[in-house]
Amino acid sequence: MKVLVIGSGAREHALCHSLSLDPDVTALHCAPGNAGIAEVAELHPVDALDGAAVSELARRLGADLVVVGPEAPLVAGVADAVRDAGIPVFGPSKEAARLEGSKAFAKEVMAGAGVPTARSYVCTTPEEVDAALNAFGAPYVVKDDGLAAGKGVVVTGDVEAARAHAAACIGESPAPSGQQGRVVIEEFLDGPEVSLFAITDGETVVPLQPAQDFKRALDGDEGPNTGGMGAYSPLPWADPKLVDEVMETVLQPTVDELRRRGTPFSGLLYAGLAITSRGVRVIEFNARFGDPETQVVLARLKTPLGGVLMAAATGNLAHLEPMRWSDEAAVTVVVASHNYPGTPRTGDPITGLDEIAAQDAPHAYVLHAGTRREGDAVVSAGGRVLSVTATGKDLTEARDRAYRAVSRIGLDGSQHRTDIAAQAARDA
Ligand code: AMP
Repeated sequence: MKVLVIGSGAREHALCHSLSLDPDVTALHCAPGNAGIAEVAELHPVDALDGAAVSELARRLGADLVVVGPEAPLVAGVADAVRDAGIPVFGPSKEAARLEGSKAFAKEVMAGAGVPTARSYVCTTPEEVDAALNAFGAPYVVKDDGLAAGKGVVVTGDVEAARAHAAACIGESPAPSGQQGRVVIEEFLDGPEVSLFAITDGETVVPLQPAQDFKRALDGDEGPNTGGMGAYSPLPWADPKLVDEVMETVLQPTVDELRRRGTPFSGLLYAGLAITSRGVRVIEFNARFGDPETQVVLARLKTPLGGVLMAAATGNLAHLEPMRWSDEAAVTVVVASHNYPGTPRTGDPITGLDEIAAQDAPHAYVLHAGTRREGDAVVSAGGRVLSVTATGKDLTEARDRAYRAVSRIGLDGSQHRTDIAAQAARDA
């Protein structure tokens, strides 16, 4: 099987890493990729957002399967272009990807499917915003309707900050996503968060193992929201029946509802959940693998990944053998550039990667995100630079291994959280 992966983050490196271990994958390509992915796949300098260019590349390579990693190409219709070219693609259509691309659309689908989520209002004027903020009270949850790379959501006790973000989203000043017009204001959900991924071909739904990510920039969940600063799996504190419950109340009904609406969803359905005192509630859906949770979920997957993604892309998931998982724990720690999630500083050399490969592998390894090669050096090229991932017999061992590897990395001005999976490891 020849596979082409689209994207350039640590999630795509994790996908490529797993695909490279699948004996059925005979050739692995990635566009545009990064310095780490180049070690396991052949890179192609093609714009991930250009559906025609991606299909042309897939055709030229004779790809049997295209895997679209990030949300932006999905929302731009890249999976549709590849599918129209007659090539199996793992990733939903542009229409179905609106489940992530529009928070208002996601709410509509959840209402249709009877899926439990936060009560919410979609607002387009400052008057509607004030009424909605008053209705729910503090803490206020204000969400840009469009894609904003995890940075469009403000949760705050400060009504002025809530109003200001809402105003930015509806267009009085530039919105984080660049799309303007609507803002979703919703009830605050209290309780731990879980990310549960499921693979679906539009009908059959196969859940993966749950993970937890860390969205805030600083230790103790302080600081601004980011794309994600770390993750771990499994969740020793979670109810063992959680996955079955979410399958029944969230994942299958959502997939059924999207099919019923004539926009079947195939690819990866990501449910961001809050475990509240009143039960499980959906915080958000994403239409692709989550980053950094993918790094820990795939670290534990024993079933070869290529066959699973191909089964979803070709509508054959009903015939898939049950997925096999390692009992080990996995932890990933994100190393980010100076000033992330603001405008990150790039172009700084990264050291220590060879030491990790020599001394910590195979239990700990580095997945690249914003990196590029400059001569013999690897330099930073984005906000999130590396996902240092490790496995161990339990979370404590996986954490120790991950942080030992992180300590070997040299990147001027870099930052990482020191408390990824700390609480869960203590409580396990
Ligand atoms: P989202 O982009 O919707 O995942 O939101 C980003 C983060 O904001 C989530 O992971 C939560 O930590 C927080 N958040 C979003 N919606 C709510 C809510 N209704 N109640 C509490 N926290 C929320």
